[in-house]
Amino acid sequence: MDELAIKGKIHSFETLGTLDGPGVRFIVFMQGCPLRCGCCHNPDTWRFDGGEEYTAQAVFEKARRFKPYFGAFGGITLSGGEALMQPKFGAQLFKMCKANGITTCLDTSGCAINDDVLELLNHTDTVLLDIKYTTEQSYKQYTGGSLAATLDFLRVLDEKGIDTWLRQVIITGKNDDDENLSRLAGIAKTYKCVKKTQLLAFRKMCTEKYEKLHIEFPFGNIDETSPEKLDELQKKLDLL
Ligand code: SF4
Repeated sequence: MDELAIKGKIHSFETLGTLDGPGVRFIVFMQGCPLRCGCCHNPDTWRFDGGEEYTAQAVFEKARRFKPYFGAFGGITLSGGEALMQPKFGAQLFKMCKANGITTCLDTSGCAINDDVLELLNHTDTVLLDIKYTTEQSYKQYTGGSLAATLDFLRVLDEKGIDTWLRQVIITGKNDDDENLSRLAGIAKTYKCVKKTQLLAFRKMCTEKYEKLHIEFPFGNIDETSPEKLDELQKKLDLL
């Protein structure tokens, strides 16, 4: 198959994002995710049969229009949904970006490793790795996935020397305890590829999306994480 004909199923684009990777970025939200995180703010990306098909070339052309805004650090971010579910598309897109001086960033839960994912990583400058929970039990209970898979993925990032930012959404009563912070700090220290660890607030702006989809928002009864709480935990974490 002609590589340029590879199509990806895409949920949406964000043109000038500043929160998902270094600098200003063009963000591509891929359609389809195998996890079911209780805190997910994009339940509309879950289904694999949704989204709109684009060739990697078409997405590259869209991103390239914003190159003047990227500066030294900005570029493209592949997010989701779960970008690792469409690795051939991602690799082709990233290859084109790299060949044209656009930096590449992958925002993922790290739930899969296979040959196609390894090829995608060959063209990835930075990974934002979501460590959702730091115990296997919580990970399984609140996402349906496995912490072990994410840690396997992190080991590969370390072997490949890919700059990695660990991220974790802080959810009251689920992972806002000191023990979780210690485990997270321990993971960050174990792998040289980890350049920073960012805590993120649990937000509920997505409530309407759940209502529209007629899906129960699993963490709909939990309060949003306040900026003060987040700041306190980030400071604690930075001292560990
Ligand atoms: S991995 Fe991301 S998109 Fe998938 S369920 Fe979890 S938060 Fe939602």
